Amino acid sequence: MGKNRECAKCGSLTEDVDAKDCKFCKAKASLVSREVKKELNQPKKQDQRENHQSIMTKKFALLPSIAALIIIGGILAVIYFAMFFDTSVEVPTTTVFGQTIGGGRVNNLGLMSDRSNGIIIGIGAAIFGLILSIVAKSKSKE
Ligand SMILES: [Zn+2]
Repeated sequence: MGKNRECAKCGSLTEDVDAKDCKFCKAKASLVSREVKKELNQPKKQDQRENHQSIMTKKFALLPSIAALIIIGGILAVIYFAMFFDTSVEVPTTTVFGQTIGGGRVNNLGLMSDRSNGIIIGIGAAIFGLILSIVAKSKSKE
């Protein structure tokens, strides 16, 4: 068997499997099996990971606000193109043989495609911003 219990405080090894208190430094409940001690050492690795993550988090700190701006911009673009973008053009009035042709407004195909492009791009931007904010949230949670 050998010495399989180790004091977490002073590092003394003992063969007494049932002992909980260290007989060298008298620390209470400081004895852990060596497997357990490995687990206890892991938080140090986690600290390093957290340090690394805090650097990463700083890098991503601006992401949520950028994502929010993209979402708002996308939604505003959709609202603008869907509701306020005028696709109609004025048709000049021409008088042919005493009859008035034209007048009023008709929808312009080019402007209509501009409008649908604008809506699609706006929706795309909003979705992109949404994905970005989800990524930013998951990065800050890690
Ligand atoms: Zn000890």
